Amino acid sequence: MKSLLFSFLFLFLFFLSHISASNSSIDTFLECLPSHSNPSHPISNSIYTPTNSSFLSVLQNYIRDSRFNTSTTPKPLAIVTALDVSHVQATVICAKTNGVKIRIRSGGHDFEGLSYISNVPFVILDMFNLRSIDVDIPSETAFIQAGATLGVCFTVGAGGHFSGGGYGNMLRQYGLSIDNIIDAEVIDANGRLLNRESMGEDLFWAIRGGGGASFGVILSWKINLVRVPEIVTVFNVQRTLAQGATDVVIQWQQVASTVDRKLFIRVQPETIQQGGSKTVQVTFIALYLGRASSLIPLMNKSFPLLGLQAQDCTEMPWINTTLFWNGNPTGTPLEVLLNRTSSRRPYYGKHKSDYVKTPIPRAGLETIWKKMIEVQLDNIVRMQWNPYGGRMSEIPEDATAFPQTLLILISFILKYELIELFISYQTLRFFLT
Ligand SMILES: Cc1cc2nc3c(=O)[nH]c(=O)nc-3n(C[C@H](O)[C@H](O)[C@H](O)COP(=O)(O)OP(=O)(O)OC[C@H]3O[C@@H](n4cnc5c(N)ncnc54)[C@H](O)[C@@H]3O)c2cc1C
Repeated sequence: MKSLLFSFLFLFLFFLSHISASNSSIDTFLECLPSHSNPSHPISNSIYTPTNSSFLSVLQNYIRDSRFNTSTTPKPLAIVTALDVSHVQATVICAKTNGVKIRIRSGGHDFEGLSYISNVPFVILDMFNLRSIDVDIPSETAFIQAGATLGVCFTVGAGGHFSGGGYGNMLRQYGLSIDNIIDAEVIDANGRLLNRESMGEDLFWAIRGGGGASFGVILSWKINLVRVPEIVTVFNVQRTLAQGATDVVIQWQQVASTVDRKLFIRVQPETIQQGGSKTVQVTFIALYLGRASSLIPLMNKSFPLLGLQAQDCTEMPWINTTLFWNGNPTGTPLEVLLNRTSSRRPYYGKHKSDYVKTPIPRAGLETIWKKMIEVQLDNIVRMQWNPYGGRMSEIPEDATAFPQTLLILISFILKYELIELFISYQTLRFFLT
């Protein structure tokens, strides 16, 4: 009993000392910031602590997954919403000297909330204000700051998306986002501003696909722009299991990575309710960098089982396809791309990526469908299968830090947080082993 009491007392004292240590570190961290930032851009305008009335809204603006937006989710001791490069440098230097952990956030789409939660006391360095995009048409290049948003999901941030690889629906024609990066600006752990030349090729290699936060703070990327035709074609066609989805997926596996590289067809199996019971519906979503008149014969020849018809296809300028891929109805004005906050709250998701190197046989597909249907409760289980091939097959595996092959993204859209545990242990383990 005595030893139990002693252990409890020890833990209590340890806890208290931990709190007071983190309180004093955060105080000295905050005091340190002005002396390391540019006086013409006062850093005081970008600091939010829990006593500030905007603290919670600043924190929550870029929390994209409601699993990590609860009263028990660990909160930062402060948020620095950098308005100037010197604010980034000051945050890094002052955090290092005061032993404060930094979480770096650009778009806030990290699957596990790693850009805004931590199990030790921490501050968030929020990059959303640093979001300029400078396009240079003559050289066909652009500088993109980390806080700019982009991607198939257009609220994903350039900071996390590019440093993690960045796949999009033109990857078969142009490779990943990182395959088009030619320079970057990074603040290192000593607060130094580096570019490709000063950081050296090793670090430049690592930040393209190896995750940015492991190496420094990405300020901006310089990328090569790619050309797209004035008009491109998209389609979104569904087949349920009863409509022969399994056969179509089998043929898709044979052609998706070898067909004309201008064509990208994503397969998206998900559970739906049909006639009072669950089944799997597979959506075939595609972008073709050309007109429908050349897509239809190409599909008839290479992928006849889908039975694509002219009326399934929609031609549009490439920029409008970003809305199509995001699921916005046809005719949605492009201005919604300027909306940086998520419209789908509350949203509970669990995502996991994996790779498939050889086609999944029919029996394997059928087992996957069965497992998807078996998942209980009201949650949606969705998988996204993104084919590579084309340009992706030409890029050496070690050109960047990103691993290459056919990518499968499994995602669970959850209604209740608890379901995640069930899925993680029962279903994910099945899918990923
Ligand atoms: C709904 C959804 C759709 C998605 N769609 C796609 C897709 O189509 N293609 C694709 O490739 N990926 C996609 N992703 C994955 C997404 O690209 C990654 O999760 C990416 O890391 C998110 O970047 P972010 O800046 O929005 O996230 P954040 O949560 O801000 O950051 C993600 C990670 O990068 C680090 N980081 C962020 N900014 C910086 C910086 N400036 N310097 C250093 N480190 C930084 C963070 O600390 C964190 O570890 C999707 C994710 C979701 C949730």
